[in-house]
Amino acid sequence: MPVASALAIAGNRVAGGVGTHETALASPDRVNLGGRCVFPGLNDAHVHFPSWALAQREVRLEDTSSLDETLARVEAAVAAAEPGHWLRGRGWRSGDWSPEVEPSRQALDSVTGETPVALMARDYHSLWLNSAALAAADGELEVTGGVVELDEHGEPTGILREESAWQFRDRYLTASDDEFVDAMREGLKVVAARGVTAVHDKDGWLGAPRFWQRLADEGALTLRVWQSLPYDHVGRLQELGFRSGIGDELLRIGYLKAFMDGTLGSQTARMLDGSGVEITSREQLVEIIRAGARAGWPVAVHAIGDLANREALDAFAETRGEWEPLGLRQRIEHAQLLAPEDIQRFGDLGVAASVQFSHAPSDRDIADRHWAGKTDGAYAYRSLLDTGALVANGSDAPIEELDPLAGICAGVLRALDEREAWHPEQTVTVEQALEATILAPAWLARDERRRGKLLPGYLADLVVLDRDPLAIEPEELPEVQVVATMLGGRWIHNPPPWD
Ligand SMILES: [Zn+2]
Repeated sequence: MPVASALAIAGNRVAGGVGTHETALASPDRVNLGGRCVFPGLNDAHVHFPSWALAQREVRLEDTSSLDETLARVEAAVAAAEPGHWLRGRGWRSGDWSPEVEPSRQALDSVTGETPVALMARDYHSLWLNSAALAAADGELEVTGGVVELDEHGEPTGILREESAWQFRDRYLTASDDEFVDAMREGLKVVAARGVTAVHDKDGWLGAPRFWQRLADEGALTLRVWQSLPYDHVGRLQELGFRSGIGDELLRIGYLKAFMDGTLGSQTARMLDGSGVEITSREQLVEIIRAGARAGWPVAVHAIGDLANREALDAFAETRGEWEPLGLRQRIEHAQLLAPEDIQRFGDLGVAASVQFSHAPSDRDIADRHWAGKTDGAYAYRSLLDTGALVANGSDAPIEELDPLAGICAGVLRALDEREAWHPEQTVTVEQALEATILAPAWLARDERRRGKLLPGYLADLVVLDRDPLAIEPEELPEVQVVATMLGGRWIHNPPPWD
């Protein structure tokens, strides 16, 4: 990336960089950075923005370390909630609890009474319900691709997994449009303060495009959004003649989303050892990629386990002749556990690894437990980069916080606590982490000639940092602060002057 000592901005674009000897720019406004540092705006390549925004208002259980602590937090929330309304929460992970115990409806019932309570697991692949919530469900809990856990009497334990969890959520737990839009309006301010100017959203299934449009109509949309849609809309998109990229300067519909398997935390990741849950087969994915290519859409496919990733790569390889000539930017989301012999295939095939740097340190204990002996290929970001693969970084918010600087720290340090880095051979450099957070997501959104660099003609999307992350020791990275953020030449967070 070129480095300039000053930057000229005209309208919504960068008009030029200025060398050390030039000081005069024809402009009515001049901002003295006072030694601060400017980078292109930060991206998050994997967010569920509406879900994240709403999650800011729900019972949060991410940092609970025992069942008792979890129940105490739920009990307090029930006491504060409106009687008779659903209480929603998220973030629990029974693998984090000590002593070890499985969640059950009986445990929840002991603190929730008549209030129906639904708690989404941290990885979103399991849902924990109390008896009142189960009673509210008149429909069938068993669905294809889903799991309903039963006790020894054949009664539901209160835990639903995969499709069963998602269908329950869609039927009973979805918030109103107004609730989503209100929460997102607040959320946009939060992420502007974190230097974010673009996201790749995954909540197309939830109706995210109509929420974004409402926000745009009121002038509140301060992000560039590259939106996914569930792959089963592809026939309709083709009929209508909508191709990837349709939209405007801020909101574009970009890619199709599919799922190969479950997750690590719910132990539903599809593994070479035969365990896990298959959501989409290799053959089905081949058909999805083909249909996408015919209609002009790339596919982002979620794959966590080593078998899920292998089959996703197989499907992209088999269809390569159909999508590569079209320049479709295919991607595997997470690419969390890879068989060592599959890592090179990302570079060879030109399929992007859309990963979450922050997952590595936060999942390390569970990965060491469930994937013992296999973690050399887990969260293998440096190895992926070494193959020449495009690696894009996201948060998967609300699973991790929507905070790209925190993701950069996690990629470089691979530690969240005082412990040594987890698999330090997989740490990335600060420069690589910045590229994965700035350049790679812009390329995936076909924006590499408009965004991601501060060159003449590029959009003036930028973040002012209090210090240069490339000029400090990695240990100092967690202290880097966002000072201000600009989108298309307009300040969206903390306009100058600053003192
Ligand atoms: Zn996700």
